[in-house]
Amino acid sequence: MEPAPPVHLRTVTGVQRLNTKVYTIKNPACPDEDDLGMIAECGEIIKRGGLVAFPTETVYGLGGDALNEESSAKIYAAKGRPSDNPLIVHICNIEALKEIAEDIPEEAYILAKEFWPGPLTMILKSSGRVPHTTTGGLDTVAIRMPSDKVALEFIKASGGFIAAPSANISGRPSPTKARYVMEDMDGRIDAVIDGGDNAIGLESTIIDLTDGSMQVLRPGYITNEMLGKALGRDIETDPALLDPACKERPKAPGMRYRHYAPKGEVHPVKGDPDKVFEHISRELIKAKEAGKKTGVFCSRGNAEKYDADVIRNAGALDDAETAAHHFYSALRDMDDESVDIIFVENFTERGFGEAFWNRLLKSAGSEWEDA
Ligand code: AMP
Ligand code: MG
Repeated sequence: MEPAPPVHLRTVTGVQRLNTKVYTIKNPACPDEDDLGMIAECGEIIKRGGLVAFPTETVYGLGGDALNEESSAKIYAAKGRPSDNPLIVHICNIEALKEIAEDIPEEAYILAKEFWPGPLTMILKSSGRVPHTTTGGLDTVAIRMPSDKVALEFIKASGGFIAAPSANISGRPSPTKARYVMEDMDGRIDAVIDGGDNAIGLESTIIDLTDGSMQVLRPGYITNEMLGKALGRDIETDPALLDPACKERPKAPGMRYRHYAPKGEVHPVKGDPDKVFEHISRELIKAKEAGKKTGVFCSRGNAEKYDADVIRNAGALDDAETAAHHFYSALRDMDDESVDIIFVENFTERGFGEAFWNRLLKSAGSEWEDA
């Protein structure tokens, strides 16, 4: 049975059901003529005010014309996203940056040169060209130039400014495959460009450059170490900014919402690897006795050892890239299998591991267990 459209969709589009078309790209790494033809068609949909989900190197985005107020309103409606949670504007060349931002500090150009196109989002003072519906009512604007070739061609074909949050229903795990986008968005958006699996599988790093000193608002693939190296100084994430329990209005408004969550409960377990294994094994027995369907997201060496209904092997404990790459798809697969409780081993929290731990904690509603 199809889920009912969220209330937002009813008010904005009057329970409009669209026929979502899937465009499958043959050569995502280097789109050929046929691929470019499909991307051009999708660009036309955007110019007419429609919505198209598209691949990026981070996760699938739900794109609309960033300069069209109605398009951003439709994005919020399709996702069921609170309208004070701003959208990132995706661009495909550096000139576009100067059109939508002003008072751009030198550091923004240094970072753009180093990390764009790529998984870094910069928050800058808005020039006023991007409407407030897109920026969630703020006078600042979040901007990113993705490196995915299909994304860049799509942005170009759409007029150069694509507002895009992740292409999931608000609160659910971000989609890392086109079929996950369809799971959430079929009938709510005009089209999906299927460009295969996303390379990284976790959302971009977000930094704020609006008040003199740069601040990391959301960790991602571009780590503090990489930012620090480019800027020639040490970068640390303010822990208060990442604290999901923080009650004040945070600088990145979206950070206060529960996120990335499957239907089952997520239980991250921290500690010495042997103790973590023992702890999870004990908890699995208890969960089974309570009649729960169980899942584990764990390191390669332990995947065969657990007695759980669904087990996802996520590589080595010191390899956050592999773990992050498989995380959202594992959560969605566990939902498909109606798993009630999911235990997750503790992968490294260093480097890119900080971003993985941040998303894991959010999917767990901020709680973890010590082994
Ligand atoms: P998503 O589109 O789901 O990847 O989330 C984008 C996130 O970027 C939002 O949830 C905000 O936390 C953040 N963001 C976007 N624009 C701004 C802005 N102008 N100021 C602060 N944070 C922003
Ligand atoms: Mg999101």
